[in-house]
Amino acid sequence: MSVSTDISLADYLKKYFGFDTFKGNQEVIIRNLLDGEDTFVLMPTGGGKSLCYQLPSLILPGTAIVISPLIALMKNQVDAMRNFVSTDDGIAHFLNSSLSKAAIQQVRKDVTEQRTKLLYVAPESLTKEENIEFLKQINISFFAIDEAHCISEWGHDFRPEYRRIRPIVEKIGRAPIIALTATATPKVQHDILKNLGMPDASVFKSSFNRPNLYYEVRPKVNATREIIKYIKANPGKSGIIYCLSRKKVEELAETLQVNGIKALAYHAGMDSATRSENQDKFLMEDVDVIVATIAFGMGIDKPDVRFVIHYDIPKSLEGYYQETGRAGRDGGEGRCIAFYSYKDIQKLEKFMQGKPVAEQEIGKQLLLETTAYAESAVCRRKMLLHYFGEDYTEENCGTCDNCTHPKKQFEGKDYVVKALKVILAVHQKFKAEHVAQVLSGHATSGVKSYKHHLLEVFGLGKEKDEKFWAAVLRQMLVHYLIEKEIENYGLLKVTPKGHAFIEKPYSFMIVENHDYESLDEDNAAASGRTAAVDEELLSILKDLRKEIARKKNLPPFVIFQDPSLEDMAIHYPVSLEELNNITGVGQGKALRYGKEFVEVIKKYVEEKEIVRPAEMVVKSVVNKSGLKVYIIQSIDRKISLEDIANSKNIEMGELLDEIESIVHSGTRLNLDYYINQVMDEDHQQEVFDYFREEAEDESIKAALDELGEDDYSEEDIRLMRIKFFSEMGN
Ligand code: ADP
Ligand code: MG
Ligand code: ZN
Repeated sequence: MSVSTDISLADYLKKYFGFDTFKGNQEVIIRNLLDGEDTFVLMPTGGGKSLCYQLPSLILPGTAIVISPLIALMKNQVDAMRNFVSTDDGIAHFLNSSLSKAAIQQVRKDVTEQRTKLLYVAPESLTKEENIEFLKQINISFFAIDEAHCISEWGHDFRPEYRRIRPIVEKIGRAPIIALTATATPKVQHDILKNLGMPDASVFKSSFNRPNLYYEVRPKVNATREIIKYIKANPGKSGIIYCLSRKKVEELAETLQVNGIKALAYHAGMDSATRSENQDKFLMEDVDVIVATIAFGMGIDKPDVRFVIHYDIPKSLEGYYQETGRAGRDGGEGRCIAFYSYKDIQKLEKFMQGKPVAEQEIGKQLLLETTAYAESAVCRRKMLLHYFGEDYTEENCGTCDNCTHPKKQFEGKDYVVKALKVILAVHQKFKAEHVAQVLSGHATSGVKSYKHHLLEVFGLGKEKDEKFWAAVLRQMLVHYLIEKEIENYGLLKVTPKGHAFIEKPYSFMIVENHDYESLDEDNAAASGRTAAVDEELLSILKDLRKEIARKKNLPPFVIFQDPSLEDMAIHYPVSLEELNNITGVGQGKALRYGKEFVEVIKKYVEEKEIVRPAEMVVKSVVNKSGLKVYIIQSIDRKISLEDIANSKNIEMGELLDEIESIVHSGTRLNLDYYINQVMDEDHQQEVFDYFREEAEDESIKAALDELGEDDYSEEDIRLMRIKFFSEMGN
């Protein structure tokens, strides 16, 4: 017998929610539940899962129990529900540990008097004996288990209390169960059905395609500036920006604020009052943008989020899909932009070192899928849906960057063979960088120390540079021709598939023009320009630099470096304050040399009647980086560089990068205590004189060529260059 077929559900939909039609397969799901069947709903975020239990709860006699994981969000859900169904305030309630005794009494009264149609309960409240006793006495229409993937350890948000739901339902008294989730991997599905003891439930799986979302991956070059530009070009629109670390969340939120954007931060390290206040402000549209860690967003129903930006590439595609899913829930515009640099992947790999092997293996696999997604030339939608076990067959989805701006590809078969040969020739005991150096024939000190410059394969791919080879190696990883041992610091090994490839090579298309290598905020200005440089101004500034250099008897590059001048020729800073925001210019530099530069720029702007691109003048929060402060303090205390690097868990090269950036922005550091330990005085003098008198520019490579790689390491030269800049320039 079917109760549901006689009812016109559309009338109820219209009456209670004001919608004219059901979304996706909402209607069949609701009918199934009305018929008293156990129901399992797999629907992407924004698909309209809530309505699948809200509507039947209003139709059926009794109260529906909704189990939902986040206390903070329950209130929002209940408010939203009351908003829709304005006929009666008593219609939805929640029961959780945030309520006072009196409030609990009131809720119980409403439920007992049968006014409450929907009762939201947190899983930890459900397990309380007094609540079980109470629920036993009332008439329950059905149980709804939202975010049901929390049951599974394989889900991205496992909650142990979720595993106790089934036995408690038995205690309270059986009623139909509807479980809902946006996680569709087969493993998680299986876990849910098993744990809830409903192997015969009707399963409704919707397509996970979100046709209104536009997917895009951009190289992480000047990401902050790109984000500010994007937000300013889309005024008044709501958006979420995800970062991986709490620190970055705070920094970025602050940078957006000083640039006049209404933005707030959200992460799990904030106190809960501030956190929910910030979330409410976003929901109420007092702020446009939330900068958050992934702690933000689950269950949030803000239908008109217009963009979701990933400042950092996420750890898994699953997570990426959930997070982007928060855009365009109402079916309107939803732009998903991810900033990607391979460096970020390497950072995530590093975090995994030392974790249990099984966990590493899973993590490695997830990262590989993310890399593949980011670097691929294939339709993004196709790749995402494939990940969820769905076949997307359209040639061109029309709403992803790879479809609207196809990337060039070329046949890479021969390159792959060369790379495989070199990996084998170095006995599969070296990292990608080393392999790329051997391939391109770059005899670095590392290569020489293993005598790899004497190998027959040395320079086997010298027609291409290291960057090219690094990209080829990444694409080989993605296609399982080689693999990387995370535990052993990323040594490359050839897989059986790779061996087969050498035996019998086949077509292997490689994506061109992808510069995802080692680009990040700090060196971005040097490698990628987002706006056109005013060449005329640039040459004026270079002349000025030369003149000042001559007067002070210093090499020009000590004053400002090229990237700084280029940045000035893009942004036309006309005050010292604005100059501070130019790449590589800190307060020290701005004060010492800035005046003359801003005066020249000001004059130029006035003469040429240039309209300065105000939205491009990105203000930064000066000297915020905790790492930099730590380094400066440690050097003041004469702590050895090795110890500093160790205590911050970074490599020496990265530490030197940081120190260089500190010195370049005008802070003076005295490294003598360290340099004196690692280099004798004569050598120091020789390098110093080289930079003082001979150097054409600041290049390390040129210095090594001139001074001899046998006598000096790259690190020596960098140390002396830092000393030189610090003493002469600052
Ligand atoms: P999910 O929980 O699946 O992520 P929600 O239940 O929060 O999605 O619903 C997403 C959005 O879709 C909400 O703004 C909701 O009001 C809207 N919605 C749900 N059903 C319909 C419908 N039949 N017609 C129009 N909008 C709907
Ligand atoms: Mg939901
Ligand atoms: Zn596409």
